Amino acid sequence: MSAKSASPITAKKNAAQNNREFDPIDLERVQRGFIAKRESGLINDAEGRFVFDSDAFEFLRDGRDCPDTVNPHLWRHATLNAHHGLFMVAEGVWQVRGYDISNITFIKGAQGWIVIDPLSAQDTARASYELVTKHLGHRPITAVIYTHSHVDHFGGVLGITSKEEVDAGKCRIIAPVHFLQETVGENVIAGPAMGRRATYQFGAFLPRGPQGHVDCGLGTATPVSPPTLLAPTEDITFTGEELVVDGIRIIFQLTPETEAPAEMNFFFPDFGWLCMAENCSQTMHNLVPIRGALVRNALNWSKYINENMEMFADKTTVMFMSHNWPVWGTEDVRQFLTLQRDLYRWMHDQTMRLANHGLTSLEIAQTLVLPDEFLAHEHTRGFYGDLVHNVKAVYQRYLSWYDGNPANLNKLPPTEVGKRYVQLAGGPDALLKSAQQSFNEGDYRWVAEVVNHLVFADPTNKAARDLQADCLEQLGYQSESSTFRNAYLMGAQELRKGPPPAPKSVNVRARSMIRAMTIDQLFDTLAVRVMSEQVGGINLCVNWTFTDLANTSDHKWVQGLSNRTMFAHSGRHEATAAASIVTTRATLLEVIAQTTTIPDEMTAGNLSIDGDAGALITIFGNLDKFTPGFAIVEP
Ligand SMILES: [Zn+2]
Repeated sequence: MSAKSASPITAKKNAAQNNREFDPIDLERVQRGFIAKRESGLINDAEGRFVFDSDAFEFLRDGRDCPDTVNPHLWRHATLNAHHGLFMVAEGVWQVRGYDISNITFIKGAQGWIVIDPLSAQDTARASYELVTKHLGHRPITAVIYTHSHVDHFGGVLGITSKEEVDAGKCRIIAPVHFLQETVGENVIAGPAMGRRATYQFGAFLPRGPQGHVDCGLGTATPVSPPTLLAPTEDITFTGEELVVDGIRIIFQLTPETEAPAEMNFFFPDFGWLCMAENCSQTMHNLVPIRGALVRNALNWSKYINENMEMFADKTTVMFMSHNWPVWGTEDVRQFLTLQRDLYRWMHDQTMRLANHGLTSLEIAQTLVLPDEFLAHEHTRGFYGDLVHNVKAVYQRYLSWYDGNPANLNKLPPTEVGKRYVQLAGGPDALLKSAQQSFNEGDYRWVAEVVNHLVFADPTNKAARDLQADCLEQLGYQSESSTFRNAYLMGAQELRKGPPPAPKSVNVRARSMIRAMTIDQLFDTLAVRVMSEQVGGINLCVNWTFTDLANTSDHKWVQGLSNRTMFAHSGRHEATAAASIVTTRATLLEVIAQTTTIPDEMTAGNLSIDGDAGALITIFGNLDKFTPGFAIVEP
């Protein structure tokens, strides 16, 4: 069964929000400096596999009426994000937007281009560089600046430069301190779970169109391609640090623990250009994304925007960001930054104000309404983040998921509680009858709650799955947040059609990122795979020597099993170890990424074992494997 129409109630709700006059300034900004588009929006990789298609968003072209299956505010935002091409931001600054979820920015240096944030994938980055070359002439890439440690800001680096260029000193790579560790640090432990949940956040498997995927808030969509990564050659370590890059002066502001654990803004003092990285966007951001992550620090986020204004606002002529479109003019930039600063501060302060009155996160989310001061501007509305979710993030950061009520301290899991609720409701038919009545009245949040009990009690109940799908779909059609919409519509689709088929090459994405891991991170990822039930009574350890690490204190590691867990520590060897292994970090990475095996590497002479090889088999033979398509909307 495919997507349905808007219910009369959804159509009415959306229509009621469609009477607002939008400020034309954003449409002017998104078109300003337009030079050219790519001839075809379709971008494939070298093997001809699909990566991205900006033409798929033609349905969002300016002037089309908002369909009743899309929240009008989200529709308007999506039509702005759907603009794509090469744009001149200022004499000396160009951006390519709309061929990836993020922007790639080209600054004209003395010898070549300084590139800020080379997108998510090498094919979209290469396509953008080609568009720049076609219209502005060929210039080499003399430097790459990564604004922060998220994949959509570095993953395309090999599309514009190469390891050889960097090693030869022809291309500098500049990043905030701790960048490399944080590129994997945020997802090392939770990678497989986060990846699956991200398909809901970004609507990865939804068809494009008014009944499916329309936007991702930060951009239209994410490309389908594994990321690449080149390590930085220079770290920015303090706020106020100044570099001259290809003849251009840049002053940096470090903003750790904001939108990303390692992030920085920067200013070009000779021109008045301000890059706000992803600390500001043309939307309210996430204090925790719905894919899941460590909760971000809303208070610091706000304070760093304030610090930025103190440092640069008076001198700024144009501000551009890693997503969405720029803002021109000192006064407009100041107003924009003030609102963004106050938005994060407001969400933080008001959540904690109500929490200190004893309200729980669900109650706060229901109580707080975004004030008119923020609703009046597009960039402080929730097209990516959503107030009801951000409130819970703030609460969680200070007080955890637990609301303090012991009735909720040790609740039954969904299937157990579902069975009992279905019984209490008088059986599946009675529950469905009541839920259908609520559905007809448009009480969708309640329908989602009760029918979810039945789906978890009996996932084979087709009537329950269908009603739940219909309900989530209407919630999606009403959502102003693209991530909420994507999640609801993904849920509806999977209730109707089941989870997506497992991708053929499960490890591709993992493999390219895994290479950035430290030994410590690597062992941590192995430790969460230990099948505890199989290693009872086993206490053993092995010594590792890694011969390819720059820091010699990291050469020696002890790794083993103890009390059904894996431990690892560096700096020494254990005299009682069952075996000693000498290899390189690179070899171990390939073994873990399953591109090779320990016996093959022994044969090739890249790994040697002295002692009991069985110990190594015991450690590596009891590791779990994760499948990417686990169920979400059903047990
Ligand atoms: Zn981003």
